[in-house]
Amino acid sequence: MSPPDPTRPTARLPARLPAKLIVIHGPMFAGKTTEVLARIAAAHARGERAVVIKPERDTRYAADEVVTHAGERISARNARSAADIVAVVEREVDAPALVVIDEVHFFASDAVAPIDALLARGITVVVAGCDIDHFGDTFAPFDALLPRADERVHKTGSCARCGGASTHSERLVASTDRIIVGGAAEFIATCAKCFRPSRR
Ligand SMILES: [Zn+2]
Repeated sequence: MSPPDPTRPTARLPARLPAKLIVIHGPMFAGKTTEVLARIAAAHARGERAVVIKPERDTRYAADEVVTHAGERISARNARSAADIVAVVEREVDAPALVVIDEVHFFASDAVAPIDALLARGITVVVAGCDIDHFGDTFAPFDALLPRADERVHKTGSCARCGGASTHSERLVASTDRIIVGGAAEFIATCAKCFRPSRR
């Protein structure tokens, strides 16, 4: 084989930069979805297609949109389970360069395999969600994803008790369910010191 001619544009060059895993994590009300929207805007500015996937059970605000607590919104595809994620992407007419999985903790460890499948296809994956549950334990899949992320964005808000940096999501009403769909009526965000874990 002859060496590539650097003066000639060639189809051998990769169509885009290598796929990356970007993990946006933190408590509720810390601006995670706002960060997601900024990533999508940046992708669009580069001329890239982005697809947003969210768990179907997250019906807090809108069935087919991701909405920040501040009211910004973008259309999203629902995935009933983690096993649906790749199929949802495959249904897209034009393959996206970027796939966002919002509220990824709803899928727990099941999210890891489809994320790997998308990365293997050269698709950058942005995941966003709560990294600590209301018991104070690490929320899967962040235990698996954080060590291998190409980029980690730890969002914090302000502690509802002391005003310090919030890292935890505290459940205000007793519940033994690990995953609860809720907003400001059910949760506050606190720092680690002020956090009162739910009882099992
Ligand atoms: Zn505090």
